[in-house]
Amino acid sequence: MTASIIDGKAYAAGLRARVAQGVAGLKAGKGITPGLAVVLVGDDPASQVYVRSKTRLVAEAGMTGFDHRLPANTPQADLLALVARLNADPAVHGILVQLPLPAHIDSAHVIAAIDPAKDVDGLSATNAGRLVQAGSGPLDFPVACTPLGCLMLLKDSLGSLAGADAVVVGRSVLVGKPMAQLLVREDCTVTLAHSRTRDLPGLCRRADILVAATGRAQMVKGDWVKPGATVIDVGITRVDRPDGKQRLIGDVDFEAASAVARAITPVPGGIGPMTIACLLHNTLQAARRAAGLGPAA
Ligand code: NDP
Repeated sequence: MTASIIDGKAYAAGLRARVAQGVAGLKAGKGITPGLAVVLVGDDPASQVYVRSKTRLVAEAGMTGFDHRLPANTPQADLLALVARLNADPAVHGILVQLPLPAHIDSAHVIAAIDPAKDVDGLSATNAGRLVQAGSGPLDFPVACTPLGCLMLLKDSLGSLAGADAVVVGRSVLVGKPMAQLLVREDCTVTLAHSRTRDLPGLCRRADILVAATGRAQMVKGDWVKPGATVIDVGITRVDRPDGKQRLIGDVDFEAASAVARAITPVPGGIGPMTIACLLHNTLQAARRAAGLGPAA
């Protein structure tokens, strides 16, 4: 079997185009332009790359971007004061504080300070709790962008996920835990695996849906994949190439897994583009909710 490639780049471009249409409709109908504030503290190179592409795509979607770049030694109190100002600003519908924050800042404290209605990363305890408690109706609150992007691709590839055995490897608040919750909501039978899981290869081999989110390059081997499975590779490891540039490697041995799986996301071009597209989607939805409107189609 040769797996079909799940083209996250193309799906993300389509999603961004739908978001741009929604933004144009909101401007024309209500005179509201969705606004996203991105806060970057310090000069982490990877974060700078992410923030640059977010800024570009926010503008392309027709939204207003509010960029706040603060020095690495910014006191926590100053960051909290900025978050409070953004919470109070009616032109700001979404607030994203780029992680990781410098070590002297308590990330959880800062995330908790963001108004849950503007928490477009879906990482606050309020929105994470809403996801745990959500029934089968629409998700009318922000959901963490990366797992939301994974779910969109899975549904696009598989249609209904009901009854599937799903294994999520990685239990972070950012990816693994919300991914597991979303899959439970889709009526999958979910196992959430981590570094202390026993017989991880055997467990993965039972998965109809396998989501790898560990940051361990090519950890998932071809013979860990059940024939016919759908494989979602969230992991990103940067490796230096001889020409001085960097190459991105996923958590899955792509070549070997492709020979066994039904469908698989590549790295790059799989989940990465979906994360930013989902951030834009969440910002549009937050702006619509702030205006008392339902979700965009
Ligand atoms: P974390 O480091 O927060 O979590 C990693 C998880 O993987 C932990 O739960 C850890 O287990 C588990 N893990 C680590 N090693 C193993 C192992 N050998 N066997 C089984 N489980 C293991 O990472 P994130 O969740 O934030 O990110 C995961 C990956 O996804 C990273 O590569 C990151 O760069 C990427 N990522 C990609 C995004 C995208 O847009 N494509 C967005 C966000 C993240 P334990 O809890 O036991 O330590």
